[in-house]
Amino acid sequence: MNMIASKKNRTNPENRRKFWKIFGQLLALCAILVLVVFSIQKITVKETAYFWQIDPELCIACGLCETSCVLPVSAVKAVHAKEVCGFCDLCGGYYRANVKELNTAAENLMCPTGAIQRRFIEEPYFEYTINEDLCNGCGKCVKGCNAFGNGAMYLQIKQELCKNCNECQIAKICPAGAIKRVPVSKAYEKKSEP
Ligand code: SF4
Ligand code: SF4
Ligand code: SF4
Repeated sequence: MNMIASKKNRTNPENRRKFWKIFGQLLALCAILVLVVFSIQKITVKETAYFWQIDPELCIACGLCETSCVLPVSAVKAVHAKEVCGFCDLCGGYYRANVKELNTAAENLMCPTGAIQRRFIEEPYFEYTINEDLCNGCGKCVKGCNAFGNGAMYLQIKQELCKNCNECQIAKICPAGAIKRVPVSKAYEKKSEP
């Protein structure tokens, strides 16, 4: 008798609906729990992730960023802040000092790897762009732009290239103490004012 009643219970459409409703609610609850756990983990990782970065206000573009990184080609690259740039024809980061002619002959250009591209906008303005794939972080353009321009070019450690060494080899010898550990929220220092 009992067996017949329990079989009836299971096959009853009303009971089946209830079962699937509860099953669906449990599934939704599990999905929410998984999402919450993931978010907590993400926040924890974010808060504890630290990277090496250059403070452009302290960097003196000494050249050691090119030669002291553990990577074959430095993880340090020049960055160009367009907000700060004067779009000058005679750009201190693009041309060497005391050039006789403003043309693109290699002996006139500051960048040894041809990483800086220049595009005419309108008289007398030019736009400058850095090709990071060619840049070796030598800092020559940074020095030139700081000396004769607005300081729109500066060096940054590219986090997608950097090995995030326990002890950054450049930070160890940086004469300006310009490289420090920063949280992920400040992984890059942006120049926005001259
Ligand atoms: S070693 Fe220091 S001062 Fe020299 S270029 Fe790198 S960050 Fe700038
Ligand atoms: S001068 Fe040096 S730092 Fe500047 S873009 Fe060329 S390679 Fe990079
Ligand atoms: S942390 Fe390592 S890979 Fe990154 S810039 Fe410093 S030396 Fe280069």
